[in-house]
Amino acid sequence: MATKQAPVIVWFRRDLRIDDNAALSAAAQTGRPILPLYILEPASVGTGPLGAAQRWWLRHSLAALAGRLADLGAPLTLRSGPADVVLDTLIAETGADTIQWNRRHDPPGMTIDRAIKAALKARGLTATSFAGQLLHDPTRLLTGEKKPFRVYTPFWKALERSGEPHEPIEPPAGLIALPEAVASERLDDWHLTPEKPDWATPFREIWTPGEAAARAHLETFVDGAIDGYGADRDRPALDATSMLSPYLALGEISPARIWHATRGLDAPTGDLVHFRKELAWREFCYHLHFHFPALPEKNWNDKFDAFPWQEREEAFMLWTRGLTGYPIVDAGMRQLWRHGWMHNRVRMITASFLIKHLMIDWRRGEKWFRDTLVDADAASNAANWQWVAGSGADASPFFRIFNPILQGEKFDPDGTYVRRFVPELETLDAAWIHKPFAAPEAALKAAGIDLGETYPKPIVDHGRARERALAAYKSLKTG
Ligand code: FAD
Repeated sequence: MATKQAPVIVWFRRDLRIDDNAALSAAAQTGRPILPLYILEPASVGTGPLGAAQRWWLRHSLAALAGRLADLGAPLTLRSGPADVVLDTLIAETGADTIQWNRRHDPPGMTIDRAIKAALKARGLTATSFAGQLLHDPTRLLTGEKKPFRVYTPFWKALERSGEPHEPIEPPAGLIALPEAVASERLDDWHLTPEKPDWATPFREIWTPGEAAARAHLETFVDGAIDGYGADRDRPALDATSMLSPYLALGEISPARIWHATRGLDAPTGDLVHFRKELAWREFCYHLHFHFPALPEKNWNDKFDAFPWQEREEAFMLWTRGLTGYPIVDAGMRQLWRHGWMHNRVRMITASFLIKHLMIDWRRGEKWFRDTLVDADAASNAANWQWVAGSGADASPFFRIFNPILQGEKFDPDGTYVRRFVPELETLDAAWIHKPFAAPEAALKAAGIDLGETYPKPIVDHGRARERALAAYKSLKTG
């Protein structure tokens, strides 16, 4: 009978929740003691180091998870080091014979997990993995020819046809702790948050990491903004999207929970479907990453390998700081700095500006976003950067070059979004808010703007940059 009481280790990764957590619920059902575990793996393994903004999020998310697990009766143990070594140590310390986790889907993480599972099984231990991070397993949906999808619309249709995702699992009512406490590292000793300076302070203006806040965001969204989502989701000044991405990125909420919360809503059908289609974009990105593991590093379309990217350090630095002289680009980059997040429409505009106006390799932008986004996600980030660059699957064609002035005028017509993040332009007349460089001297003076001093002049001319980008693209086609 002794083995019956051997503890079960539940290894948390990007699933920092107790709700709809298949590994945790299955462990609870065994009726055995449970050791919830989070391992801070070395930065060099898996998809690489967590970005600085996401480390901040992780710190607070782990604290929230620890609180919920303590309430359920089994405290969270924190350990750092290579996962196989940590697991071996804990198995030796506690006599655990079963290790459970929810699958991760990034190819490097999957390689680690496969090796660990095989090694544990070879020792006669039970290692079980569960689904739940996606609506559907990325291996499941394939074309009629049993090939991965390369185009989003047929992927979406296949997803729709494949039936409803699993019913979310309610959290366990309680957990049994190990009879003796297990030593845990201290969260504060991991130094996940910035200290000097603490640039993350403004994150708190809009974010509360953790599962409870994720559910609150979901409720607010389905009770309100989902009505009108289709029309308003491109307007960065409005609170028109769910803002669930950082919670999804570290698994504080499951996509199935979100999907089911939108069931039976009386939101206009178009809005509902539109929202679900965005969730399906996330799935599509994972599908692409799974079938093309090099997505964050290599052009999906290798024709782009010959693209004449430019090394423009100064321009790159100005882009990162939101000092390009194009207000919508600068507002987006400053929103990213301030809140670790940027509105989707503006992500497209800023990415396009880096790639096409500055001709800087999309991989530099992808890395910058990975470091600064609280929702950084290997699949979604890489797939979207490649989408903007034109090098990705089902991508926007390279020759479609966003005009940052027209994009600003269309999606932020009165400049509310720009004024929020670029205070130098706060009182500029709406007629010039997206092109202060074209404003009459009197309008600038009335708004207290000294172009080139208080706000930069454009670092590139839109028309010339466009021609240069198109010529580079043409050389690719003919070269
Ligand atoms: P909502 O509009 O409420 O959408 C709901 C959910 O659908 C999102 O939370 C997200 O999980 C998913 N979703 C929506 N749009 C997309 C999309 N285009 N691609 C994939 N999933 C989507 N998203 C990330 O989660 N992590 C990233 O690292 C990331 N990097 C991006 C980089 C670029 C250059 C671009 C153009 C987009 C990127 N996105 C990324 C996608 C998108 O911008 C964000 O998911 C979205 O802005 C999150 O806001 P929301 O939760 O309010 O979205």
